[in-house]
Amino acid sequence: MEKTSPPPDPPAPPAPDARTGTRGFLDATVERFVREFRADRAQLFLYDEESNTLTLRAAHGYPAFGRATIVLKLGEGLSGRALAERRPIYTEMASTMRGYVDHPNFPDGDTQTFLGIPLLRGRERIGVLSLLRRTGHPFLAEEISSARLKAAEIAAAVQNAGALLLAEHGAAAAAGKGILVPTEQMSFRGTAVSNGWAMGPVRVSKPRPSLLGGPDAPPLPPAVRGFDEAADLVEQTLRRLAEDLDKRLPEAASMLLEADTMMLRDENFAGRIRDLVAGGTPLPDAIAKVSSDFIAIFEGSDNDYLREKARDVEDLALRLLEAATVADPADRDGTRAATIVVAERLLPFDVLRIARDRAAGIVLCAGGATAHVTLLVRSLRIPLLIVKSRDPLRLPDGERAILDCANETLYVHPAPALVRRFENRARDESADRRLSLSASEHTATRDGESVRLAANINILADLDAAVEAKAAGVGLYRTEFPFLMRQSLPSEADQAAIYARVLARMPDRPVTFRTLDAGGDKVLPYLYKTREENPALGLRSIRFSLKYPYILDQQLRAILRTIQDTGRDDVSIMFPMVSTIEEFRAAREHVETCLAALHGEIGDRPVHAPYVGTMIEVPAALGVIDALAEESDFFSIGTNDLIQYLLAVDRTNAAVAASYAPHHPAVLRALRIVAGAAARHGIPCSVCGEMGRDPRYLPFLVGIGIRSFSLEPTQIPKCQELVARLTVPQCQEYARRLLSLSTLAEIEAAIDDFSRATFG
Ligand code: PEP
Ligand code: MG
Repeated sequence: MEKTSPPPDPPAPPAPDARTGTRGFLDATVERFVREFRADRAQLFLYDEESNTLTLRAAHGYPAFGRATIVLKLGEGLSGRALAERRPIYTEMASTMRGYVDHPNFPDGDTQTFLGIPLLRGRERIGVLSLLRRTGHPFLAEEISSARLKAAEIAAAVQNAGALLLAEHGAAAAAGKGILVPTEQMSFRGTAVSNGWAMGPVRVSKPRPSLLGGPDAPPLPPAVRGFDEAADLVEQTLRRLAEDLDKRLPEAASMLLEADTMMLRDENFAGRIRDLVAGGTPLPDAIAKVSSDFIAIFEGSDNDYLREKARDVEDLALRLLEAATVADPADRDGTRAATIVVAERLLPFDVLRIARDRAAGIVLCAGGATAHVTLLVRSLRIPLLIVKSRDPLRLPDGERAILDCANETLYVHPAPALVRRFENRARDESADRRLSLSASEHTATRDGESVRLAANINILADLDAAVEAKAAGVGLYRTEFPFLMRQSLPSEADQAAIYARVLARMPDRPVTFRTLDAGGDKVLPYLYKTREENPALGLRSIRFSLKYPYILDQQLRAILRTIQDTGRDDVSIMFPMVSTIEEFRAAREHVETCLAALHGEIGDRPVHAPYVGTMIEVPAALGVIDALAEESDFFSIGTNDLIQYLLAVDRTNAAVAASYAPHHPAVLRALRIVAGAAARHGIPCSVCGEMGRDPRYLPFLVGIGIRSFSLEPTQIPKCQELVARLTVPQCQEYARRLLSLSTLAEIEAAIDDFSRATFG
């Protein structure tokens, strides 16, 4: 196992100056390479994925540059080939190479020594930098490696520059069409991905150039304070909101504040506003102008990382405008609270803003929610509905709406009777809440068999619910959440602080950390930008961690250090999506190596080793289940993914939701195989996917021998009640019956019969 692989791409450096800097930056980049590598000529092409072309954006040594445009198709010419094949192309006789193109405005003539280096971020194509030397002056192998490294270093900045150029050419995303003004109740059907309901004004999250001025917008109100005072006010508000968010999302609040305040003090942003004001532009117009430029630039990019930046700027700009023009902006503080946010797409970072602003609900139009956005909004108890129509995006801000996830409907301009119904519901629910969470310490079946109900933890705030529900520990801590909520890689210390809080909140109950489950639809945009054809089958989970051992080791060190600091011997580490014994061994070896290194550091104190287990969620694991059981300390079955991969049904795709059948005979039989192997080898086996909390499937799982579950903490009391109605022999008999059936229809009928008889 290679332990010294470099980390993936570093976070993208800041974008070059929006006004004049882009071209200057590209020219300077080329000049720097020319100097460092003693090239006689150089060309820098930027790639546009949509048109699949490369455009020459900077050059050295070609007098005609500036009068002509060179556009190559991907694969065309030596530069096009280097990018198409994602590898450097080197030749000392360029004109004899396959694919060589001799352009009349750019004759290579006596510079036949050619080195084309693709600029890549992950597998994403950014452009090509080609260096040419006079014939007879070859590049040495070390020079080629060094040029490759340097190219990797500048790829992110060049990508930012590409986005700025795109914006310059007017390719910024077009805002919505017209405004939709309902005069009577309208409803939009959808798919609910988290529970609950919300009533309040709509707030559409989309680029809003009109709010920031522009040709058709009404004039902005005059300023009532200067820029510095307005910026201070905004910072105070953000600080207050961050303190509030810290109670619900301590792992992310300070980071969100940092991102906002950094922008507020950024010279490129604040400096430009000050310059415009000094030149006579009124402050509100200066804020609007600078912000709109930045928003257009970032919105024009199809890169998640840069698009997220557009939201940052917009959010900040609106706050700044308000602070600059409203005498008492504190009065307006509440305007974002209790709103129903309508958005086209959501990244985890967007959810943080929504949570910070205490929005009441979310409607996603014409998109889907990634598994992690779904889990995040559930943990934050924010109702989320995905609707097919894009019309809600055209609603005016402030339009009243009711979001009812139980009925999977968004009502806009609700009729008074409907409003009254929900007002009554709010009263009833607050009474109900006082009666809920009557869970007891111990869970057992009617005939006295103990069953462990532990909690799945996504965000630290879930721990409160877990403690309240008397969870038997943490069965799955999804460590990727702090990674997903940030805009850069959390450090070892950041991670350790979070893990320590998990252990501190569960002082006397076992805790299981699942290592980073990145990749698939859980993309960390700051690390890499993969456009994988099949992300669910791509570089995900343990594959990702083993490919980037630097990140895995950092995470393991953070967990292991926390274990040593607390002296706990009831902590486990498990690896997601293991499909081969080799993967498990390699991952466990990382644990051992990190533990040994820690041993060296802590001296004589005894070392506390964690249990090391395997998540069973890839069908291939079933074929090697005995060997995995032999080597693992425990199993945890991730039914969410196991079902997805067994049935080839995307767990996040509403269009195929009907085919996502946990009761499919193949799933039931697979679960029996895993439980059987764990029993034969005497290792604990729990279920941490959602199947475990479902009354339709829980009796089957008990019947095949599962005695440990990990589920959303709020589900624990209900699940405890369900378990108390079951007896082991009854569940065993029931499991045998289900396993004897081969069609979905027969199994559904059997489940219906059992559920009616047992739960009423
Ligand atoms: C699962 O796949 O069942 C699981 C618990 O992991 P996640 O939902 O985080 O992929
Ligand atoms: Mg999973």
